[in-house]
Amino acid sequence: MTLPGAPWLARAGNELWLDGCQLDALASKFGTPLYVYSRRAMVESAMAYQRALTGRAHLVCYAMKANSTLAVLQTFAAMGCGFDIVSGGELERVLAAGGDAAKVVFSGVGKKRSEMRQALEAGVACFNVESEGELEVLSEVALAAGKTAAVSLRVNPDVDAGTHPYISTGLKGNKFGIAHDRAVATYRRAVALPALQVVGIDCHIGSQITQIEPYLDALDRLLDLVEEVEAAGIPIHHVDVGGGLGITYTDEAPPDAEVLVSMLLARFDARGHGHRKILLEPGRSLVGNAGVLVTEVLYLKPGEAKNFCIVDAAMNDLMRPALYEAFMRIEPCQARDLMPLTWDIVGPVCESGDWIGRERRLAIAPGDRLAVLSAGAYGMSMASNYNSRARAAEVMVDDGHATLIREREAVASLFSGEILLGT
Ligand SMILES: *Cc1c(COP(=O)(O)O)cnc(C)c1O
Repeated sequence: MTLPGAPWLARAGNELWLDGCQLDALASKFGTPLYVYSRRAMVESAMAYQRALTGRAHLVCYAMKANSTLAVLQTFAAMGCGFDIVSGGELERVLAAGGDAAKVVFSGVGKKRSEMRQALEAGVACFNVESEGELEVLSEVALAAGKTAAVSLRVNPDVDAGTHPYISTGLKGNKFGIAHDRAVATYRRAVALPALQVVGIDCHIGSQITQIEPYLDALDRLLDLVEEVEAAGIPIHHVDVGGGLGITYTDEAPPDAEVLVSMLLARFDARGHGHRKILLEPGRSLVGNAGVLVTEVLYLKPGEAKNFCIVDAAMNDLMRPALYEAFMRIEPCQARDLMPLTWDIVGPVCESGDWIGRERRLAIAPGDRLAVLSAGAYGMSMASNYNSRARAAEVMVDDGHATLIREREAVASLFSGEILLGT
């Protein structure tokens, strides 16, 4: 049996396997909580984008905030992907993983001067500028550094991506991007400022998008602007349509990346923009269904109102349920011949928001391992040390081979930079 939306994950016999590795055996070997990723699932997802873009000038920039572990970045760098970064820290990770700065686009509403200098020094492909204020500061920083900053303006197309309010970014009320009706004026400002070179336009309308229409609407809005800006004598070389393609967590049916990209390309062509270089910034859709979080059942606590299953993973390891009330599938790593009951799967953290799943029918006993599916994106990268909990270990599997790619964090390192008073 293959599980929907989770390539390479399968139940064979009583065991749950990810690309030829038994998850329960990995839990015994590496401990829990444990993130496990399938390298092949990541490669397949990136190849779907690349296949659709064959023959076009393009760059797939993996939005690394989804999962910024070095071995994950290394996997995408080896496939020729670039990276969409949102901080100087992420740039350092790209370089540490062997990524090419010339394929990096730098997004984010709050870039600091020091981060701009760092990115100019490294030679990033472009800055996705999100406000007029940022444009002025970038010009100053580049001028002082004796560099030219390549600039793309992130425009807010004011389309509704039809997703969760916290992950919708392309509406007027969002903090992201430059308002559509300010865009032409901002491009004029950009060409007037020293040490800047306009190279593109971009947008990013949200995350976990399951429809094609919002993308096409956003692209139309972008292409309208490209035409206006070029009519004003400012050439635009690339169009970056952002990321945001959704994945299947439960019963969502997002389009395949290949279908989405083909429809976007058709729209580029229909509007006479087929020659343009196309950038994409997928995050979740490259890694989300490639990973699971394996956790051990510590205690079962049946009660009058609810039955609680207390596991050793918590909101600090996987924040999506607590943050967005996100639904994530949960499967036992080993099927058992027990009566299934309805459980709330909760962690050890001292917050009522610390839950992983609610009202799940599971046949489980203490000591069993559970796999939280679709945990490859916005899992480990959002993990914290709340409650002084060291972060999980991570393993990459590939055709039956498992490699530790991040050691379990040592508790001592949590306070290694702290200073006692009077010493
Ligand atoms: C987060 C983000 C992405 C990736 O979004 P996904 O939903 O993970 O694909 C792309 N571009 C920008 C600017 C982002 O902030």
